[in-house]
Amino acid sequence: MSAVEIICQNCGADTSLNREAIYGGFSKIGERLTCSSCGIEYASEEEVPFKPETIAPVIFTEADRSTKVEIFDEGENKQICHYCANYIVNPFTQFCARHKKEIQSTDTCGLFVAAEDKNGVDKLL
Ligand SMILES: [Zn+2]
Repeated sequence: MSAVEIICQNCGADTSLNREAIYGGFSKIGERLTCSSCGIEYASEEEVPFKPETIAPVIFTEADRSTKVEIFDEGENKQICHYCANYIVNPFTQFCARHKKEIQSTDTCGLFVAAEDKNGVDKLL
């Protein structure tokens, strides 16, 4: 077995892992994982500070990190003021007829009423 490289948590050495079989009677009951530099014992495989490039199962890869996807909820997106029947736009302002206040076309509200006939044409005041 080739030496497994570790960066020891205890002594900080860039060293290798000692793997010693532990026997109970005649059967192997476990392994002792120790730092070959300072001898500190690691309780389990999970505790071993493997050198990054020697970690066998790569849990997080560079690819995983870059595939963060912006998720937009289709339904929720349609609830924006721009698509609401109460949305009124004129050259100076965008206005909610329901709340009688200035709004942004990208605002959302709980009283959204789907505009019946938008077809991309905004109502003019
Ligand atoms: Zn050590």
